[in-house]
Amino acid sequence: MDEVRRVAIVGAGPSGLFAAAALLAQGGPELAIDIFDRLPTPFGLLRYGVAPDHASIKAVATTLARVFEASRVRFLGLVEFGRDVTADELRSAYDVVIYAVGAQDDRRLGIPGEDLPGSRSARQFVAWYSGHPDAEPMTLAGVRAAVVVGVGNVAVDVARILLKDRTELSATDMPDAVLAELRSAEIEDVWLVGRRGPEHASFTTPELRELLDTPGVGVTVSGCDLADIDADQLERHARANVAAIAQAVERSVPEPERRLHLVFWHRPVELPGEGRVQAVLLESTGGSEGPEGHLTIPADLVLRSIGYRGVPLPGVPFDDGRVPNLEGRVLELDGSARPGEYVVGWIKRGPVGLIGSNKKDAAETAAHVLADFDVLPRRPLADLDAALAARGVRPSTFADWRRIDEEEIARGSLRGRERTKIEAWHELLDLVVRS
Ligand code: NAP
Repeated sequence: MDEVRRVAIVGAGPSGLFAAAALLAQGGPELAIDIFDRLPTPFGLLRYGVAPDHASIKAVATTLARVFEASRVRFLGLVEFGRDVTADELRSAYDVVIYAVGAQDDRRLGIPGEDLPGSRSARQFVAWYSGHPDAEPMTLAGVRAAVVVGVGNVAVDVARILLKDRTELSATDMPDAVLAELRSAEIEDVWLVGRRGPEHASFTTPELRELLDTPGVGVTVSGCDLADIDADQLERHARANVAAIAQAVERSVPEPERRLHLVFWHRPVELPGEGRVQAVLLESTGGSEGPEGHLTIPADLVLRSIGYRGVPLPGVPFDDGRVPNLEGRVLELDGSARPGEYVVGWIKRGPVGLIGSNKKDAAETAAHVLADFDVLPRRPLADLDAALAARGVRPSTFADWRRIDEEEIARGSLRGRERTKIEAWHELLDLVVRS
């Protein structure tokens, strides 16, 4: 029987690629690793989630891409789990399957008006400005006031993109159509709404400071009195956040081009509007105004940024937004073991953490995979390549991705940019060579 151990990784985002890198780095038996993705492009949220103006984080892709230089590591793009390949098939063709699919959906507010045109999830907005081929196009012409619900790092990202000078955005890799649409918006006011106080917000201080320091933007805060917050009682990051907000509010921005309003201790109860969203009705949850007050903010655009949510994988246990697991080893719903299946990233631990958090997380799962090879019996494995070919599923390769990559870089250089993303499915597929 083959001496090589075969590993399938479902999802070529940061968590999946960190897992491959950790498996290769930690040593053990010789491995053949197939990394599947439904897109012809690897890097998941690094490509379609990290903000376009955060180029230094995006550069992690260069390091992650190195896993594909190893012999016996393949990228199989355009293969969708559940549609083109099932859990049973993967289990029969690989010694080990690692799910690295992230959290593909978003939490909902559950309030009237949430589905009106003009109301979107931040996830959809991020996918759109990142040039995701499945993103629904957005129209921003005439948008003056935008409300972002939630005070995490995603909320900070979308607020910054809305507020930032358009010339600066032109230097990013955003698709041309997205840049044109952002230029057509006439953003004057962006509201960020937190249901608790600034000391409870989940944004991190460097990201918050970057938003508060956006040139030409004046900052106001309401719903709480910063002076009433006892800094000595706070953890370091909360204290730094409150201090950063206080400094930004005190700083005078003469004739601001745009305004950022931070509203704390309020939650939305309705998005009123006829035919499309026109406002956000907020209810006080406490704070300096007491629990009774209501506030209406006129809004042309509402982005709910209240967290991502995992989606069940057909044929794999699922509970409370995640695959149940013990340090990455998948468990049945009754807590019993499910040998040979593993998880990494947001589907393992929930939708929290920075790109870099996946490194440690993946190393933990990889260590268990390698240890388990000692006890996982060797068995004859099915030929998945043949099964896929027989039903007309033709995976794209890493060489195809390189072609997309080169084309994006070439398109960018025409305009003095590092890259211009290709967002249309048909253009991506045109660059995939079918053998
Ligand atoms: P998050 O940090 O969990 O923030 C979610 C926000 O939504 C919180 O303010 C939460 O408030 C609020 N919220 C939840 N349910 C709500 C409801 N029903 N009504 C009103 N508000 C509600 O999630 P995220 O911003 O989506 O970010 C996900 C992860 O990606 C985080 O770990 C983040 O740090 C990371 N990320 C990092 C970067 C970066 O480093 N630049 C960029 C983007 C994302 P409560 O606290 O009151 O629940």
